[in-house]
Amino acid sequence: MEENYDDLVSKILKERKTGSGNRFEPPDIDVFQVGQKTVVNVEKFAKYINRPVVHISKFLMHELTAPGQVDETGKITLGGRFSKRVVMEKMDHYVKEYVICKQCGSPDTQMRKVDKNFFIKCLGCGAEYPVGRLK
Ligand SMILES: [Zn+2]
Repeated sequence: MEENYDDLVSKILKERKTGSGNRFEPPDIDVFQVGQKTVVNVEKFAKYINRPVVHISKFLMHELTAPGQVDETGKITLGGRFSKRVVMEKMDHYVKEYVICKQCGSPDTQMRKVDKNFFIKCLGCGAEYPVGRLK
């Protein structure tokens, strides 16, 4: 089951890269190093996938075990140097975990918070399920 889901996600991500007219085509993310810090601009990406920049930043900090901060324009500054490839791998992981519906593979989902838990609701098939919490 898990493998099928992975296949589905790679297919979606591959279609995105080839630009085959797939409707799920998140914009590119700017990643650049400044001294011993890495700046990741997720403003457009966050808007496209309809997720809060703060949530994405917490995910990145958690995954990269790096301290970080967010400004109001959607720029995340992480302590440490990370390549664009590493950041993009994490963002693919984010999309897979928090955006794409695990039931039908649709990227057309919403995230909502109930108490301290996050739920993903799919607008395609109507599935709703909890996702992991980030500290
Ligand atoms: Zn679905």
